[in-house]
Amino acid sequence: VAGKLDRTIRDAPMKLCRFNENRVGVVSDGYVHDVTDAITPMLQNTWPCDYGDTFVGRLPSLRPVIEKAIPTARRFAIDAVCLLSPIARPPKIIAAPVNYKRHLAESINDPGIHYGAAVKDIRAAGLFLKSPTSLIGSGTPIRIRFPERRNDHEIELAVVMGRMATRVSREAALDHVAGYCVGLDITVRGTEDRSFRKSPDTYTVLGPWMVTADELSDPSNLKLSLKVNADIRQTANTSDLLIGVPGLIEFASSWYTLYPGDIIFSGTPEGVGPITGGDVMTAYIERIGEMRVVVARATDV
Ligand code: MN
Repeated sequence: VAGKLDRTIRDAPMKLCRFNENRVGVVSDGYVHDVTDAITPMLQNTWPCDYGDTFVGRLPSLRPVIEKAIPTARRFAIDAVCLLSPIARPPKIIAAPVNYKRHLAESINDPGIHYGAAVKDIRAAGLFLKSPTSLIGSGTPIRIRFPERRNDHEIELAVVMGRMATRVSREAALDHVAGYCVGLDITVRGTEDRSFRKSPDTYTVLGPWMVTADELSDPSNLKLSLKVNADIRQTANTSDLLIGVPGLIEFASSWYTLYPGDIIFSGTPEGVGPITGGDVMTAYIERIGEMRVVVARATDV
């Protein structure tokens, strides 16, 4: 049985998750394999602490230990665990404002999106930051902070940086990536600064797990879609990105150093729209997976 399990996991993409009380798991075949105890000795905090996320920064040396621990790991049905953000402590959450042509058009045409400050060119607007404390995983409900205002969903391919990167070329950019996740950039529409409107607690969702970059070597042709309840709101392909993942890493790292665990939200396609308490979102990206995220009702908040 152990041999069969081992083979199954090696053949499948390495999907790493964090779940329940800060456990680390490998997802395969509908199960989460708990490898926490095997890697904990390698994750002890020392002073001075790592600059960046410790787990992601040390992942190259953790990988063989994780793979060895899988066959004998305690396992849980994936539906029976609470999935946390796969990245615990991102130094930065970087995001692209308008990076799909048809979303550019909808955001210029809809004053309910741009409030008089439409972005016309991502290179001129630059990238922005969301607070790392806004981050949750797919098992935690989104809590709408301002129910009287428009709160929108934005599905995005999220890139997790694996190594320090400063002034890297687009040709070398993907060598610095640890993996990919499905991201939701939840947004209060209005006149305040963008980072302010996108940083309330629970307004950044990352999940359901991270697919490692060695299993997903080319992020430039991935279908993505988002449903709210039964309605398909957003469908696109990352081939439509105005600036693709290598270009985003080149652009971001030309302004500041990227650290292990930094997350880049690559931008959302057309079809953004409001969510409200009680909604259930289903967010899917090809070769990464699907996550179901609940919006808490006001009475649950
Ligand atoms: Mn966005």
